Amino acid sequence: TYQNDEALRERARRVIPGGMYGHQSAARLPEGFPQFFTRGEGSHVWDADGNEYIDFMCAYGPIVLGHRHPAVEQAAAEQRARGDCFSAPTDRIVELAELLTDLTPHADWTLFAKNGTDATVYALAVARAHTGKRVVLRAGGAYHGWAPVWQAEGRPGITAEDTANQFSYVYNDLESVRAAAELAGDDLAAILVSAFKHDVGRDQELPDPGFVKGVRELCDAAGAVLILDDIRAGFRLHLGGSWTTLGIEPDISAYCKAIANGYALAAAAGNDRLRDAAASIFATGSFWFAGVAMAASIATLTALQTSNSLPHMEKVGTLLRDGLREQARSHGVGIRYTGPVQMPYLIFEGDEPERFRIRRAKLFASEAAKRGVYLHPSHNWFLCAAHSEDDIARALEITDLAFAKVRESFGGS
Ligand code: PMP
Repeated sequence: TYQNDEALRERARRVIPGGMYGHQSAARLPEGFPQFFTRGEGSHVWDADGNEYIDFMCAYGPIVLGHRHPAVEQAAAEQRARGDCFSAPTDRIVELAELLTDLTPHADWTLFAKNGTDATVYALAVARAHTGKRVVLRAGGAYHGWAPVWQAEGRPGITAEDTANQFSYVYNDLESVRAAAELAGDDLAAILVSAFKHDVGRDQELPDPGFVKGVRELCDAAGAVLILDDIRAGFRLHLGGSWTTLGIEPDISAYCKAIANGYALAAAAGNDRLRDAAASIFATGSFWFAGVAMAASIATLTALQTSNSLPHMEKVGTLLRDGLREQARSHGVGIRYTGPVQMPYLIFEGDEPERFRIRRAKLFASEAAKRGVYLHPSHNWFLCAAHSEDDIARALEITDLAFAKVRESFGGS
């Protein structure tokens, strides 16, 4: 049942604009999705009615080791016992900056904040301060945060001035970046690139090595700053940044999400070329320097470094992918399953996700949620280190039923 959930929704309608909001607007999730969670443990979460789910969204990324990971909780509790929020940072900030700078080959310094948006907005300000130029190039459809600067002109509350000095390119299309750089002329401050293409409503794409190399060369030729948005993928694919295996270094990267296993922390990690600019700009926040999240981050990064969490996520992610592909095939339902196995995106043939027509995906996700598997109809999913092979086997039993429902309602494709 969803009685408590219904009652909470009713109360929320009165005191929260729109009745409810949340990640990707939780209110728009189909039947069977709870709006509120009350507890999490490992790879499982519980809603307000006590229904249990295997969690394949992991808070949209932050939960990388599993909910309430013991080492992280202990580090956070120890710091909490000493105090969290002071008139200056705690000593943990130096330790964490050293750790993150060591982990990240391109980085010589790190600055901390709270949300991913803080980090991307900060990185752009650093790039502009460093170059004395204004224009930023970004991929159409890519998400970099809620701040007006990253939103589309014409959305409610957003003015043309908010989004000025930007040109868009197509991810993995170097020619389109060149054309956008040409439009920027001698006013190019930065090129902003996501770790991989993970836009809502699109098949995911890993970065083409030639594309990343070409963008690096364009930045070097123009004296512009290469900003990597590693907020969603960072620490889930590689500990040194998601482009580690490509061998191309950004000048500054933005981190958040998995950095502290669910505690609120973001970081911008940059190289020496940007050090003076980074020191010159004004950026701060009431809670940016709080100690508990930093203690949690040190414990998270250390646990990731000293365990087999990353290969484990790849292993269970591969089991899930192979199982789902086989089920889709056996039910005669056409799917596209794209992106890294740790962060997959499932699209049904026949749906039009770029136009938010996703009836098959919604039915599939709804049938899964009702049976205790929490995955998203229109956003990439997240595996975490706490997912066990049993979780995957149990989830696959349920998705098999969900595929059968899709086949029943929509036929084969
Ligand atoms: N960039 C990317 C790639 C993201 O996925 C997100 C969050 N979904 C952000 C930026 C913004 O982060 P936040 O929501 O923490 O401000």
